[in-house]
Amino acid sequence: MEFNVAQLLKQPIGATREYELNEEIEGLDPGLIPVSPLTGLVKLLRTHSGVLVIGDLSISLEVSCNRCLEPVETPVSFHFEESFRPLTDVETGRFLMPQEFKGQQEELSDAALIIDDHHILDASEVVRQNIWLALPMYPGCMFEDPANCPYFAVRLQEIKEVHSDLVEETVDGEVIDPRWAALLALKQDDAEPKRKR
Ligand SMILES: [Zn+2]
Repeated sequence: MEFNVAQLLKQPIGATREYELNEEIEGLDPGLIPVSPLTGLVKLLRTHSGVLVIGDLSISLEVSCNRCLEPVETPVSFHFEESFRPLTDVETGRFLMPQEFKGQQEELSDAALIIDDHHILDASEVVRQNIWLALPMYPGCMFEDPANCPYFAVRLQEIKEVHSDLVEETVDGEVIDPRWAALLALKQDDAEPKRKR
């Protein structure tokens, strides 16, 4: 996701470049498991303070189903706009002083938004953050009803085996979320009559 913007920086404000992206992003983030390349359109726009990157990208990732914990493929699409600033003057190679920067103050301090001294704009950190933002908070598998999900049934069976003393509590039609299974023990304690001191 690196773009050489030397020529673009020499052009007047409003000049644009467009790139069709098709990139493997293994290694971008240890927490992300891509199952497709990152694809879409990236547009670079020369602004008064540097380069505005406008991206419309898509990728499929492997995540865990929120209910049965099985891996599921989740496609995500996202749009982002981020302003990058050059570290050096493209004509002279001179380092630009912070006070010469004409953009927003917060863009000045973000290392991910700097175009390096070789005029390379690296959008990978911005893309990484946007992938995380685009991921669903509660990813789910293809089974909408837990009763139809074979993996969920397996999880439920595992819970019953671990908490065999609580099986009676689980057969009354209640669906148990695997993540809360540990709380069953507390529920049991609570049900016992309180002893007086
Ligand atoms: Zn599931």
